[in-house]
Amino acid sequence: MKLTDKKLSLRVYLSLAFLLFSLLLIAVMWFFQAVLFDAVYRTIEATQVERCAASIIRNIANEDLDSIVKEIEEQNDMDISIYLVYPFRDGRILDPVYIPHDFTSSKKLTEYNSVVEYYEKAVKNGGKVVEKKESKYLNSANGPNGFHPILENDSSELLTCAQLTDTRNVHHLVVVESDIAPDASVLGTLKIQFVIITIFILLISVFIAIVTSHYVSKPIHDTTKKAKLLAQQNYDLTFSGGNYKELCELNDTLTYSAHELKKVDELRKELIANISHDLRTPLTMITGYSEVMRDIPGENSPENVQIIIDEANRLSQLVNDLLDISKLESGTVAMENKTLCLTDCIKDIFKRYNKLTEQGGYDIQFEYDSDVYIYADELRISQVLYNLINNAINYSGNDKTIIVKQTTKNNEVCVEVTDHGMGIEEDKLPYIWDRYYKVDKEHKQAVVGTGLGLSIVKNILNQYDSQYGVKSTLGQGSTFWFTMKTVEKD
Ligand code: ADP
Repeated sequence: MKLTDKKLSLRVYLSLAFLLFSLLLIAVMWFFQAVLFDAVYRTIEATQVERCAASIIRNIANEDLDSIVKEIEEQNDMDISIYLVYPFRDGRILDPVYIPHDFTSSKKLTEYNSVVEYYEKAVKNGGKVVEKKESKYLNSANGPNGFHPILENDSSELLTCAQLTDTRNVHHLVVVESDIAPDASVLGTLKIQFVIITIFILLISVFIAIVTSHYVSKPIHDTTKKAKLLAQQNYDLTFSGGNYKELCELNDTLTYSAHELKKVDELRKELIANISHDLRTPLTMITGYSEVMRDIPGENSPENVQIIIDEANRLSQLVNDLLDISKLESGTVAMENKTLCLTDCIKDIFKRYNKLTEQGGYDIQFEYDSDVYIYADELRISQVLYNLINNAINYSGNDKTIIVKQTTKNNEVCVEVTDHGMGIEEDKLPYIWDRYYKVDKEHKQAVVGTGLGLSIVKNILNQYDSQYGVKSTLGQGSTFWFTMKTVEKD
């Protein structure tokens, strides 16, 4: 069983996440309903009761007090009573001014004794008292001043706000009462509502989970299918079909990878073809000439021996290039840096081309102002120069003029190698530094190398943090350049 078989799919994860989220949402809702709703309801009720009392006190002298009180009572489902207080009678005689209720009805009214109690508490409290207690309902009119309460058994809570208009002269006591417990029918409705909302949320979340997981996982599935094809070396693939950014990026990257893999694969095939060709040609020459020299006595001439030596050298050059590039790329080359004269280094390389200049009709020029010193590995720098000059010679065509120019500026030396040959197409320029890249795919043994030269140059110059590049115009020639930090002569 593969490890991936044990893992849950994205679809399951998403569905679980949605379900968890909905359950949390429902839990929070039920928590508010069960625990906080009562507290919030009571707080709102308490504020309401106080606001009603204040509103009546503001309107106490209003001619329409009766209708105002009635309106407030009806709007807020509260019981209001107003009493006239005579302070000279110890404040204990409270004449009901407004008791809008029919005392024989079952409507709630404050018990007379409670009113006296509220009055005293309000006086002590600076004119206002808010209190909560078990409700005691009145349903009789026979008490002092025609007001005698009879208690009813009722367990609900009653919130009362008793407020005085004044405490010195004859004044009013306003008592506003409200049943604090939420209405059973309201609670019932809310409960049904919550059950419906819960079912609704669950259904919606299941629906969204199914749709989203399909939306998210389907294109990933498609991409995985194509990636498997890519693993089977099928490089002609375009990854597409992402509905969201991350997947689009993944698809783009995979398309890019497929493209790059295809390129590498082509280069690999090309390299094998080239190397085998490059190896076979000198080997054929060596075997051929050796056999001729063995079989035909007169052919054992120094020229023929030289051909064998040259071909053997070419073979070792190819093998060396291959070794160099693999060592440079793996970073195992130890640079033997020292202060050296770059100008002398270029002059030395020029000496190697003397024969070519004499016999091949090449004109290789070196332009420089002064001797320049750099801190580098002489062998590697020679390799860079040699590869660039060699290319210039190889691709200079009929012009056969190569100019090497050395200029210095701000502790930096720039070396330019210019030829007036075939040049390079602009769209090919970025690739010529790649391993095994050849602009001319047709393998021309006579002039073209292994396709490794510039890659070796790039790798060496990167080790010295040098800048390098090429300017080229098709049909007019190319200038390859690189810079190095200059140092003082030791
Ligand atoms: P090669 O051994 O084939 O020359 P390089 O890595 O040195 O490989 O160069 C890569 C490719 O860049 C060459 O195959 C050639 O097409 C192109 N190139 C390099 N130098 C020049 C130049 N001076 N003029 C034109 N094309 C060049």
